[in-house]
Amino acid sequence: MRERRYSVCALDCPDCCSLFVEIEDGRGVRLGGNPAHPVTQGFLCGKVAQYLDRVYSAQRILYPKKRVNGGWERISWDQALDEIAGRLEAIIRESGAESILPYSYAGTMGYLNGSGMDRRFFHRLGASRLDRTICSSAGGAGLTAALGARVGAPPEDFRFAKLIVAWGANIHGTNIHLWPFIVEARRRGARLVVIDPIRTKTAALADLHLAPYPGADLALALGVAHVIFAEGLEDRDYIEKCTEGADSLRRLAAQYPPQRAGSLCGVPPEDIVRLARDLATSQPAVIRLNYGVQRSERGAAAVRAIAMIPALTGAWRHRGGGLLLTTSGAFQINRQALERPDLQPHPTRVLNMSELGRILTEASDPPIKALIVYNCNPAAIAPDQNRVVAGLRRAGLFKVVLEQLQTDTADFADYVLPVTTFLEHTDLYFAYGHYHMQLGRPALQPPGEAKPNVEIFRLLAERMGFDEPCFRETEDDMIRAALDSGSPYLAGITLERLEAERSVRLNVGEPFLPFAAGRVNLDATGLDYEPPLESRLGAAELASRYPLELVSSKNDDGLNSTFGHRPRVEAQNSLLWIHPQDAAPRGIESGHRVRVFNGRGAGEWIAKVCEDVRPGVVRIPSVGWNKNRPGGAGVNVLTSSRLTDAGGGPTFYNCLVQVVRCVDHSDTGSYA
Ligand code: SF4
Repeated sequence: MRERRYSVCALDCPDCCSLFVEIEDGRGVRLGGNPAHPVTQGFLCGKVAQYLDRVYSAQRILYPKKRVNGGWERISWDQALDEIAGRLEAIIRESGAESILPYSYAGTMGYLNGSGMDRRFFHRLGASRLDRTICSSAGGAGLTAALGARVGAPPEDFRFAKLIVAWGANIHGTNIHLWPFIVEARRRGARLVVIDPIRTKTAALADLHLAPYPGADLALALGVAHVIFAEGLEDRDYIEKCTEGADSLRRLAAQYPPQRAGSLCGVPPEDIVRLARDLATSQPAVIRLNYGVQRSERGAAAVRAIAMIPALTGAWRHRGGGLLLTTSGAFQINRQALERPDLQPHPTRVLNMSELGRILTEASDPPIKALIVYNCNPAAIAPDQNRVVAGLRRAGLFKVVLEQLQTDTADFADYVLPVTTFLEHTDLYFAYGHYHMQLGRPALQPPGEAKPNVEIFRLLAERMGFDEPCFRETEDDMIRAALDSGSPYLAGITLERLEAERSVRLNVGEPFLPFAAGRVNLDATGLDYEPPLESRLGAAELASRYPLELVSSKNDDGLNSTFGHRPRVEAQNSLLWIHPQDAAPRGIESGHRVRVFNGRGAGEWIAKVCEDVRPGVVRIPSVGWNKNRPGGAGVNVLTSSRLTDAGGGPTFYNCLVQVVRCVDHSDTGSYA
């Protein structure tokens, strides 16, 4: 007889699924989506439906280990914690606490294990703080500049839309639980338009696919605004009552007629006109904007301009209209209580995680002497990988990695500590693709000696002699503190209620029309479009040496580097998609080994010649594990640590490269 226990998917995905695990003889045997959850609706994506392969992987790290003479030695938790605490104390004595840098991102989306006891620990330590910019900060800055909040149309309301525009959003690959609502809307006659330089699965299923140049979305958005104003399609009543600054947008948009906008962004002018007319006249019209758009030099401005469009057309008035980039701003927990920034001895310096290579190799006053990595694999996912790796190899850098599997980053560690998966610990979950707060309880026994991050940092705090009561709090204490924020969105949401119901919708109202009454900022100051430096229209000299634009967009079957242990995922990550027009003059055919390079680095991939990329653009699905790549060169040897126009994010998708056929290796003759 199988027992069913419920949990929450903690991976970095907007869907934040409610799921169950079926257990037989104490072992998880199957995962499934919770049919009672209004967004999960009873199914999981393919990548997490197989997640038990990770839980029970032979590669799972089960015990603390220490690097000894270039190899690994199993050690006890007591030894690991004592020695790590001892090293940190010595480093603080010699160089000060700001020479210690925590490095984490969204390996878990749980509050407690993602930004709970760890933050308390590093704040109390007085360590350097990390600006967690690597994924969404530019988009957050752009969205907030236009809308004032990181909220948007609820996914459940997409079913009411008449037009859905997936802008930089591969819904099929990275937001699959939105798809049923789109299917329902299309059954009622809605149209789906996809804007993406790549013909993704979502684009292939659309009524219309527009493929702008990478990083040129701002020009496209300004062209759309031009047509809306020029043809008198704007909702004047909404603009008057619910926006400010519209005149400045009108003036700027006047400079981007479809011909000019089209030449800047690579979309035919007639398609810009058609898109603008559709957005203005097919109400409710909703834009599903995702984070691909903001990974470029003008990424924040692009998000800001796109977020203005529903205000021009009055789409926010309608249920099923508006825009969705994120819902995270509605989860207004008590961060002060959870993270305890007040524990800092003084306001410590903040370092941008997107510049890790520079930080490890150049930061001074003081230089980084210890790096504590958790929920993240920077050796693979951070831009300018050669520099990051040089930093990780630096003599005298003490490295501790909390991990489930032996990642590229764990390979550099002095100590590796085994951590639990989301199926094995308690956590509280927000979402960035819906409005349901969820509680996850342990469904499975942790294997070996794996511990949750919360417990590891609690134990480290004890070893360091931190005696503040917050370091003795239980997970339930922390959840109660986080929920006690006074936000009306969280009113009545308690641990007990989450325990009983598992998932509780925030009090955002039903229907939730976040900007039906404004106030949207249409001030276009600073929104002028300049082609990104690393683009075919940017620096001509650079473009002549590296004439192809690389988009390292997410693998549909991967999730950042989480599934680097799956050979099938890594086979996909080994491909370079190239258009026949670019492949032919280089003598490249599908299955050929190719060398991809620029001034930052080089690596080898296998050519997949196809028309799913436009001429001049190549794609490498990301993010693979470096150790699975020839010479250990992952795709981020090519990407730049240049930052976005706002928000301090990385510009992964403005990346010029050259591609040549390898002559010194045999071809594979096939590709996955
Ligand atoms: S990765 Fe996303 S779609 Fe897949 S189970 Fe997790 S939350 Fe759901």
